[in-house]
Amino acid sequence: MLIVRALEDIPAQGIKEGDTFRFYIVDTHHHMGREKTHKNTPGGAYDFYQLLWFEMKRLIQRAMEDDKLLFEPVEITAPAFPSRIFNSRKSWKRMNHGWLIDKTIVFPYTDDYSTRGKNGEPSFKVSNDKIAGWTTRAPHSSRLIGFGRVNPSDAQSGPPDIAVRELERAILQLGLRGLKLHPLAQLFIDELEDDITKRVLQKAGELAIPVLFDTRNMRTAIRIKKLVDSMREDETHSASVRQLKIILAHCGMNPGDSKLYDILRDPAFTADTSTLHDQDIPLLFDMAITRIKSSEKRWSESLLFGTDYSFLSVQAAELILYTFSREFPGTLGDVQRILGGNALSLIQRPFRTARKTKRSPRQLACPNDGDRSRSIVENGIISLLHNDEWELSSLDTMLPPHQTWPEPVPEIRGGFNGVYIDSFVATLRSKEVEYELHLWLRDNPANLLTLASLGTSGEDSLQTTEYATHEIGERLIEELTRNTRHERDANSLVESIPRLFK
Ligand SMILES: [Zn+2]
Repeated sequence: MLIVRALEDIPAQGIKEGDTFRFYIVDTHHHMGREKTHKNTPGGAYDFYQLLWFEMKRLIQRAMEDDKLLFEPVEITAPAFPSRIFNSRKSWKRMNHGWLIDKTIVFPYTDDYSTRGKNGEPSFKVSNDKIAGWTTRAPHSSRLIGFGRVNPSDAQSGPPDIAVRELERAILQLGLRGLKLHPLAQLFIDELEDDITKRVLQKAGELAIPVLFDTRNMRTAIRIKKLVDSMREDETHSASVRQLKIILAHCGMNPGDSKLYDILRDPAFTADTSTLHDQDIPLLFDMAITRIKSSEKRWSESLLFGTDYSFLSVQAAELILYTFSREFPGTLGDVQRILGGNALSLIQRPFRTARKTKRSPRQLACPNDGDRSRSIVENGIISLLHNDEWELSSLDTMLPPHQTWPEPVPEIRGGFNGVYIDSFVATLRSKEVEYELHLWLRDNPANLLTLASLGTSGEDSLQTTEYATHEIGERLIEELTRNTRHERDANSLVESIPRLFK
């Protein structure tokens, strides 16, 4: 998380000089695997983020001299639980850095593992396996979110549903959580409006996952929008397309084109900021705030921060810094949405696969004396990861419900920025049997710390990470209350953790 300090009073936002704020940052566009001279792994990503912070510090110094900043980025702090996971094993500990970025959405390159048409296998099978291998195991599962990749044109040399089946496998078996499509690299630019692409999008809609399209120009962006519109009008697709969420990568590489903002007015569309630099940056925000007028979303809900590492390096530092400058046209709430909130809201559901299980919820509760009891319970959860029985498949924080993202509050008043880093869902997968469950740790209003085990499907599971009683479901709340065991303190809660698995 990035800590920034207000350099002067901002009465309109109730901000006083010296107030400090925390920002949770998500990189929405990041490649892993191998493509010719490009190579990247989780460790490479964290090293890169450290470098990005060094670059920012260099830019901060210059911007301070020119009096350009309204907020000065002052330091980086790691979110407690993921950092604790990294520190729990010697070989993980050396990767506990680079926390300028808290979460990263990663997907394959057009990579050397892809095998177009070979043996009737989907192009990105090996690539998807690799992304899942990195993103659904501890410790990286606490900071990486994997997207799969498919090639709709595989259908030309293989079975007609080959890409659709690979997408299903990537999401339901491997546990990837979105899809990357690259119309140029996979040469399906001419088939963009064809049935093969529609079928892939239809499946993505049914699975309710976001789809990131590489978009190098406005022509491609417009064709994607037309494709989605045509699916909306077509009875066979209209139901599934309602859940479809599209990310236009690189803002179509043309933030000066008003047609970009016409598309972004559509609630299903967002765009990532990777590749934008220099004069593109003020242009993007100025155009977005004036042109994205919609009753269905705020302008800043359309934009997602991204780096496109390793194709691009530290230039993303410029965009982060700009959001804290005098010129940035929005509020700190807009900054937090763009830098991370929107990306988390797009994922929105706690991790689950076809392994999903139904079970009755159980809960342990103990008095909450703040950091001490929390660290005992968090260490209790981490020790589960070291006993060979459980794998940590993901770590999802709870979020404000749709369209209620708050303005960040200063650290002296708690520092809440919309991301509930202290209320999270950890997905545990049994290493021995086909079984997974959610462990949900949260601060309860009655000064209790609760740890619940839930199934990953059915009425008694968490369907969304939106943190509000009406989103969680009355029945689940009742069940949790009925099945709560009260413990004397955090240590006895940890001793009772095995009860959660019975
Ligand atoms: Zn890219």
